[in-house]
This record gives sequence, structure tokens and C-alpha cells, in this order.
Amino acid sequence: MLIEFRKETENSAQENISCPVLVCDGCGKQIHDAGKARAYYRLPTEGNDVGVWFCHTEPSCEGNLELKVGRQQLRPLALFLTQLFNNSGFTPETMQEQLNIIKSRAGLVS
Ligand SMILES: [Zn+2]
Repeated sequence: MLIEFRKETENSAQENISCPVLVCDGCGKQIHDAGKARAYYRLPTEGNDVGVWFCHTEPSCEGNLELKVGRQQLRPLALFLTQLFNNSGFTPETMQEQLNIIKSRAGLVS
């Protein structure tokens, strides 16, 4: 599972702020569209820990990932993240509050 910290948007008023992004385990590039990516996951079994990987839906990315980790269960990234947020008590209201903070920091709202 690749999560990297990269600079916030180019519009950020605070250039030193970094934020987490998901990176494709197949090609190493940032995932910008959850609708065009998948979460691959391996449930814990004897001898294996749980594993989670993120991947663009591009055949080359999926092929590279499967070479690394083999065939795994998968689901659309948007569904995976929604389930993760929902099961963590992260509500749409919480997301809106956090988006407002991010926009405020970036100087997009007063
Ligand atoms: Zn990729």
C-alpha cells in the first residue's frame, strides 16, 4: 500500500504543507480519480498478514501489480474508501468541515 505525502495543491498559500495521497502500486503515479482505480486486498490467512494495494484500472498497472502480489480480491477504490470512512465514523459532515479547513488554509475562502 503506497501512501505518500506530497505538497498540497498549487493554490496553497502555505507551501510547506504536505498531504497524503494514494499512489498506484502498479506504476508509482498518484491516483487522482477514485473512479478509475481499484483497491486490491488480501484477507489475513495462516501465514499471511492482511494486505492492501491501490491500482489504476489501466491493464498495464494491474498487470504490474499482479506480478508483485499475485491475484487478489479487489473492489472499486471509491467503494473501498467509502466503506473505510463509514466504518471509521467519518461522516459527510466531517468531510465538509475538513474540506473547509483545507480551502481556508489554501486561501480559497476567507
Ligand atoms: Zn498506475
